[in-house]
Amino acid sequence: MNIYADNAATTKMSDTAINAMTDCIKNFWGNPSSLYSIGQRAKEKLEDARFEIAGIINAEPREIIFTSGGSEADNQAILTAALIGKKKGKTHIVSSAFEHHAVLHTLNKLKNYGFDITLLDVHENGIININELESAVRNDTCLVTIMTANNEIGTIQPIKEIGALCRKHGILFHTDAVQAVGHLPIDVKDQCIDMLSASAHKFHGPKGTGFLYCRKGIPLSSLIEGGAQERNKRAGTENLPAIMGMAAALKETAADMDKHNAHKAVIRDRLIAGLSQIPHSALNGDAAQRLSGNVNFSFEGIEGESLLILLDQRGISASSGSACTSGALDPSHVLLSIGRIHDVAHGSLRLTIGEDITEDEADYIISNVSEVVAYLRSFSPVWRDLMTGKREFIL
Ligand SMILES: *Cc1c(COP(=O)(O)O)cnc(C)c1O
Repeated sequence: MNIYADNAATTKMSDTAINAMTDCIKNFWGNPSSLYSIGQRAKEKLEDARFEIAGIINAEPREIIFTSGGSEADNQAILTAALIGKKKGKTHIVSSAFEHHAVLHTLNKLKNYGFDITLLDVHENGIININELESAVRNDTCLVTIMTANNEIGTIQPIKEIGALCRKHGILFHTDAVQAVGHLPIDVKDQCIDMLSASAHKFHGPKGTGFLYCRKGIPLSSLIEGGAQERNKRAGTENLPAIMGMAAALKETAADMDKHNAHKAVIRDRLIAGLSQIPHSALNGDAAQRLSGNVNFSFEGIEGESLLILLDQRGISASSGSACTSGALDPSHVLLSIGRIHDVAHGSLRLTIGEDITEDEADYIISNVSEVVAYLRSFSPVWRDLMTGKREFIL
């Protein structure tokens, strides 16, 4: 069996997206900035894509800026809010401890320029507390940036409440919605979102493209200077094949979202029930307020990396923590943020399933993870210490 269970790292491109890209490369290869008809036909496709994407999140087309992906959109949103804030003497930003590194590292950079950053606790369930957010905002707060859904543990934040609170206090609200767009209903007006980041390769579109929604009236700052593309907010000839692929992928994913979520939630809960049978294991993040495709477990006494390698040999592609942290020795900052200690965080497994997963595949995952965990424990010195009482079990 071959099961791809790492959809939070990237998704396989849909045929629809591939076809849209091929169509563009063959038939709409002109430069959208050119005035002759070959260019103008490309420009039309660019604006069609913008219109399509805007509609799906209830934005206006001119509120959509195409970027090279989620990371760039996060950087641009945060820089914009920081520059607006700085002009007014507001240099305080509120975020959360388990944001993606595209957000956290950008905030860290701003610290060197005099910004003060408050990172909210995400508690054991991986969800921020709205009252704590209200207490954290100050007169000099210029931005609240909280992700819609976490990429490692899949927990979903109370976005509408956060948006309403920010609106009430006159603070800009940005959300990294890379794991949510195409997977959860989003309405930027209803949820009072000022800026939102998305990435095509998380919803069956191509890599290296994404978009930033920026509510009209907010003076968006560009990260890349040059030509007048994207209304002077993002220079460089547009990656039209990728943009057309992204729009086609999002249209298709969004149309079937409810059906996909219903199916994935059933499989997710089957996986959670099955993996909970493994002794000294625990689900990471809230069981209910989470993405339908996310299962994240910690198993005491093992190394996540060894687990991944052995699962790969059995045809299962999964991740421990996030793609950015596997490879590095540091345990995932997300798992640490929900209170997992280093040893336990190291023995973690993230399964992010796609809509095509079957019950049989879920059962195959459960039996193989159970076997591999037992096998790894059979020669783990940490497990021996736990069993002989030299160490105390945590889970
Ligand atoms: C993948 C991801 C990103 C980065 O998006 P890229 O398009 O790969 O730059 C940012 N935030 C979250 C939550 C993600 O899952």
